[in-house]
Amino acid sequence: MTNAMKDYFLDLDAASKDPARKVAWCTSVGPAEILRAMGFEVFFPENHGAMLGATRVCMDTIPVANANGYSPEICSYLTSDVGAYMKGITPLTKAFGIEKVPHPDVLVYNTNQCKDVMHWFEYYATEFDCPIFGIHPPTNVPDIKQEYIDDVAQQFEELITFLEPVTGAPMNPERLEETVALSLKATNLWSEVLDTAQATPSPMTFFDATIYMGPIVVLRGTQVAVDYYQNLLAELKQKVAKNYAAVEKEGKRIYWDGMPVWGRLRALSNTFNENHACVVASTYCNSWIFSDFDPGDPLPSMARAYIKIFINRNDKYKEDYIETMVRDFKIDGVIFLAARTCPNNSNAYYNLPKKLREKGIPTIIIDGDLCDLRCYSDEGATTLIEAFLETI
Ligand code: SF4
Repeated sequence: MTNAMKDYFLDLDAASKDPARKVAWCTSVGPAEILRAMGFEVFFPENHGAMLGATRVCMDTIPVANANGYSPEICSYLTSDVGAYMKGITPLTKAFGIEKVPHPDVLVYNTNQCKDVMHWFEYYATEFDCPIFGIHPPTNVPDIKQEYIDDVAQQFEELITFLEPVTGAPMNPERLEETVALSLKATNLWSEVLDTAQATPSPMTFFDATIYMGPIVVLRGTQVAVDYYQNLLAELKQKVAKNYAAVEKEGKRIYWDGMPVWGRLRALSNTFNENHACVVASTYCNSWIFSDFDPGDPLPSMARAYIKIFINRNDKYKEDYIETMVRDFKIDGVIFLAARTCPNNSNAYYNLPKKLREKGIPTIIIDGDLCDLRCYSDEGATTLIEAFLETI
């Protein structure tokens, strides 16, 4: 995977310097297939935000964005990334020798996940004097109605019309079908990879999955992602066959809801290991399963898949979803991360943990954040997790 990610970033850097190639910036659950099919190389600022979080470089960049008018209360992927741009730094330099993030020729966002992405991309549209297009689907929906699909498929059509002058060529429908087919293969493999954790003991943890997920976020629609997940799945199946345990003497099995705490993956992983508990499933990693993609019906199937994501659903859907995960992965307890700067992907606030407890599913809430470690206490989280594991 290191090689796949390195090649991806080096190629983006090369594309950014080549006037004949075009770079699009896209949100993590935006219509990457359309962009790839039209020949764009695609960069994902949220992935950059996660890198800033995991390397903890964000602790130097968030305050820069705060000082420039971006509140400490808003998405810390946004403040990490915008602060890094303002400061002129990127973790890509240390990782791959890349001086700066690729220059965008177009910016495309989808508010299926939240509204912060619109503010984030609008900043860059002004900064780079760059064309920008937003997909605005119905949000927080209980069911996926046909009119929602028609609406979003129509917006995708408009996006294609918007992009054609940027690339100087019309969309090739066959290329779109091929790209959606590759995305479907990769996402189905990713789903199978995550499902290997249904085995007892589990061959992988949530913390492993936050690393394994790189290609499904940034490389879907490519053969590279398909090859990577085929290899990973084969390896995990071998581990299951050999009864390999990702956590020695696996005892309790945990579900993680909400964002990862990127700057504390290792510490949290150690805490669970030491307590023989395995975080076997999560809302976050499952968010890149798009099994509705259909190469024979690309735009409507993409519309359905991208409206359908967990974060864009109502409370009842989320409750039922987590209950199903608890059953399928034989979960003993659910940990909710209440991310200070991402209420959109924190499900601890509207009674869901209590509702699950009333159904006999133990839950706790940990306060923290995806990137901003000023909102997170190592001691507090460890104490809570250890007490929770003892109780259940
Ligand atoms: S969903 Fe949360 S973490 Fe993701 S971009 Fe929106 S506010 Fe940021």
